[in-house]
Amino acid sequence: VTPIVGKLPPLTWPLPLGDQLIRHFASLRSEIERLADAAPVGKVSDVELLSPVANPGKIIGAPVNYAEHAAEASNDQTLSHGRPIRGLLEAGLFLKASSALVGPSEGVQQRFPERRNDYEAELVVVIGKTGTRISRAEAMDYVLGYAVGLDMTIRGPEFPCLRKSVDSYAVVGPWLVTKDEVADVGRLELNLWVNGERRQHANTKDLISDIPTLIAYASSFYTLYPGDLLMTGTPSGVGPVHPGDRIEVEVEAVGRMAVQVQ
Ligand code: MN
Repeated sequence: VTPIVGKLPPLTWPLPLGDQLIRHFASLRSEIERLADAAPVGKVSDVELLSPVANPGKIIGAPVNYAEHAAEASNDQTLSHGRPIRGLLEAGLFLKASSALVGPSEGVQQRFPERRNDYEAELVVVIGKTGTRISRAEAMDYVLGYAVGLDMTIRGPEFPCLRKSVDSYAVVGPWLVTKDEVADVGRLELNLWVNGERRQHANTKDLISDIPTLIAYASSFYTLYPGDLLMTGTPSGVGPVHPGDRIEVEVEAVGRMAVQVQ
């Protein structure tokens, strides 16, 4: 897409909200595909994978959204911190700072190694167009595509928006898969490994609030813009990582990414 970025319409102040490549993706798509067909082929291992969305206006996170993770969190004082475990309709959504965003090759730089720092494997939805008060029925029209995400989290009593917003604590990659490439986003296997050992395994059919519900709920409070990222919640099996650990996350039909913890 590098040659395409230079062809985006010139921006004038004040800059429009959202990611401008994602905003214009539909009109640029045929040109992107033409360039991809003619582009030199290299190895994925030879390139550095950054976030496929460079400038999201916001990174939205879903609270407990898998039943087994709700049970796990209720039984673990480190996760619940004495608070009741609440899902979407009680707790709503949280935001992660957009400055936390990195791609898999950048890795996670742990800030508070004396505290518990957990991985959370998640399916990420990339919003493709502006919308507010979106109905469930129309919600998928606002989806451009999907990516794999890590909602890195420091456990503790502070607001989630703080604990989950440390620089590099929002990993998105390994690339963006457009919606048409995924036959049924409500039936995808999701796996996470730490140093080769599988720690999380789930299927998106077990999401408590599905993607249309999350989009309708989020947009009932705020406008969604192209490039906004929606992390859909993690299944059971969360746990701590430490500098030197290597996390791998895979979502069926979307991709697999490796992330080094430093
Ligand atoms: Mn999460």
